[in-house]
Amino acid sequence: MKIAMIGSGYVGLVSGACFSDFGHDVVCVDKDASKIAALEAGRMPIFEPGLDQLVSSNVKAGRLSFTTDLQAGVAGADAVFIAVGTPSRRGDGHADLSYVFAAAKEIAQAADKPCVVVTKSTVPVGTGDKVEAILKETRPNFAWAVVSNPEFLREGAAIGDFKRPDRIVVGTEDAKAQDVMREIYRPLYLNAAPILFTGRRTAELIKYAANAFLATKISFINELADLAEQVGADVKDVSRGIGLDNRIGSKFLHAGPGYGGSCFPKDTLALLRTAEEYGTPLRIVHATVEANDLRKEAMGHKVVAALGGTARGKRVGLLGLTFKPNTDDMRDAPALDIVRVLREAGAEIAAYDPEGMEQARAALGELDYRHNPYDVAAGADALVLVTEWDAFRALDLKRLAESMRTPVLVDLRNVYNPAEAEKAGLTYHGVGRGVAG
Ligand code: NAD
Repeated sequence: MKIAMIGSGYVGLVSGACFSDFGHDVVCVDKDASKIAALEAGRMPIFEPGLDQLVSSNVKAGRLSFTTDLQAGVAGADAVFIAVGTPSRRGDGHADLSYVFAAAKEIAQAADKPCVVVTKSTVPVGTGDKVEAILKETRPNFAWAVVSNPEFLREGAAIGDFKRPDRIVVGTEDAKAQDVMREIYRPLYLNAAPILFTGRRTAELIKYAANAFLATKISFINELADLAEQVGADVKDVSRGIGLDNRIGSKFLHAGPGYGGSCFPKDTLALLRTAEEYGTPLRIVHATVEANDLRKEAMGHKVVAALGGTARGKRVGLLGLTFKPNTDDMRDAPALDIVRVLREAGAEIAAYDPEGMEQARAALGELDYRHNPYDVAAGADALVLVTEWDAFRALDLKRLAESMRTPVLVDLRNVYNPAEAEKAGLTYHGVGRGVAG
């Protein structure tokens, strides 16, 4: 199959590289010339484990190439995937579909034969209809088929997720398009990944339902963590105690500083806007969003409380800035709210992140950026574990405690054993650990 991928970001680049690894002939297109130049020079524009090897081996094999020229990329394609961003529209929370619609128009103008256009971007219900209308309006003489094929990969584990998905969702009523999609994903469903054919609108809704449900699990356990702190219970044990029930499942039940990233915050908001438009309130999702917004801010105040109620003139060290480990993505990361609250409270902030420093600088501006966790701790009045990178899981707690001005550890990911931290000389504050601190 010949595939064009429009948009070579986290989703487009990983999907394109994986499709080429299956043996398809893939051109990744992006209008950001610096991204394409980096890729052509063998440099990855994003950090994603394993991506550099995957890209270089497929480029070498002649199955994967990059271009800024959409017309050249689309030439001869059997399927054109749209994997451009769909950020929150400023002010109202609707998904901004301008990139998707612009891509659809460019595809219609550029195509040299009718092809299947596949929306991989996360888009509100009904967007496929609009994409189809744009294609037909721009190139009325072509028989277009528009498919919704939402992506469920997680940043940081994207290649494994793409190659071993729990399911592949394909939304289209068009039999020929179904055949093309079956052919594209054949290497995967031969490995028993279920391929689920649905209506296009249903596929679009499945993606938002999945993200909203996962976000709800996180907000649920985070609120329970607050209660656990008050009643003298340990939320980690509560998570385990409920997660072992198969009906509930253990994933997404880790209490922490709130969800961030490029998907959950914007997708929950966009789903709420769709629900409003159709006069069908989603009260649970609404509460999830509200709880999460409050939580990220509350984590900043939790640090101030751990400093003794005042942050002015105090130094706070942050370990981890990205919204989760193994990515450099800072979009909607809890660190953004924590830094804002700490700045407002007058704290001086030092920070280190293994891969996110560049994006952090762009998002947070000037902080005292350091090169390792021990430098961050030196002279600090509180050390805050914000993102649970592996590199922060086995720190020498005694060394940290001895180098700090006030040995306070705020462990927002519950990585450390409270008793061990206290033994090393640290005053420990976890999340939802009412028993130990
Ligand atoms: P991204 O911002 O990393 O990448 C989007 C890319 O599209 C950018 O490089 C941009 O330059 C390019 N682009 C925009 N318009 C273009 C055009 N007309 N022609 C060529 N290139 C164009 O975004 P992302 O994180 O990859 O997300 C893409 C979509 O996938 C979003 O809808 C997102 O919600 C969804 N999604 C993301 C993830 C994730 O973990 N990041 C997971 C599942 C789904």
